[in-house]
Amino acid sequence: MARVALVTGGTRGIGAAISLALKSQGRTVIANYATNDAAAESFQAETGIAVIKFDVCGFEACEAGVAKITTEHGPIEVLVNNAGITRDGTLPRMRRDMWDAVLDTNLGSCFNLCKLTFDAMRERKFGRVVNVGSVNGQAGQYGQVNYAAAKSGIHGFTKALAQEGARYGITVNAIAPGYVDTEMVRSVPGDVLSKIVAKIPVGRLGHAEDIARGVSFLTADDADFVTGSTISINGGMHMY
Ligand code: NDP
Repeated sequence: MARVALVTGGTRGIGAAISLALKSQGRTVIANYATNDAAAESFQAETGIAVIKFDVCGFEACEAGVAKITTEHGPIEVLVNNAGITRDGTLPRMRRDMWDAVLDTNLGSCFNLCKLTFDAMRERKFGRVVNVGSVNGQAGQYGQVNYAAAKSGIHGFTKALAQEGARYGITVNAIAPGYVDTEMVRSVPGDVLSKIVAKIPVGRLGHAEDIARGVSFLTADDADFVTGSTISINGGMHMY
């Protein structure tokens, strides 16, 4: 039977490309989202991929989501923690709620969903977890202490959990994308974005599919010797 894969934030942007890549790998993919029903409905209609709405920040919401997926499709064996947001501002302008929202969405979600799926993976002696970090978690970025802290935290979380999963056939890895052409990046002012692109050695923004290709590699059944790694996919922007 096809393995069940949950992709958080899987209906738009990078997540949508990951959902499609895992589907073409033969997974039964469930794409999660938070609020954008219209995007989720059209994604489901176009791709035939099932969608599920829950807020990855809420432990109980995640618990209900995982239970529904398990009942309807089977235990989750491939988990891609991709949902993420930015709430940028220099430290003097950053409010506590901007810090909390970014930490909860980008990093707290990894705790929630790994915690809720890990036992089933351990019992089945198979699991593939990929957490989506960022080049800005590796290098830092002006105006993003919240986002850089959350994404940097993902890289530590990944290495620690990889050690817990290794003896049970569970791999835990991260991908650190550079700047990718999605709505998140389209919200960056044009003059700032052109300065960013000028610093990317390959001379362009990434495509969502560039990131999805890395996820396909890390979640393959035979990728069992790759764990605790971070793959940087950033056009040579930051060599880490
Ligand atoms: P988008 O803004 O295009 O899409 C974000 C997705 O996450 C949407 O599906 C959104 O759901 C979902 N989401 C947001 N908050 C929640 C929540 N609380 N619960 C459930 N789902 C949620 O983002 P990208 O595709 O650009 O980014 C995807 C990941 O890649 C993020 O983790 C981001 O930090 C990371 N990244 C992106 C880079 C880029 O250049 N784009 C660079 C480096 C890292 P909904 O549709 O309902 O809003």
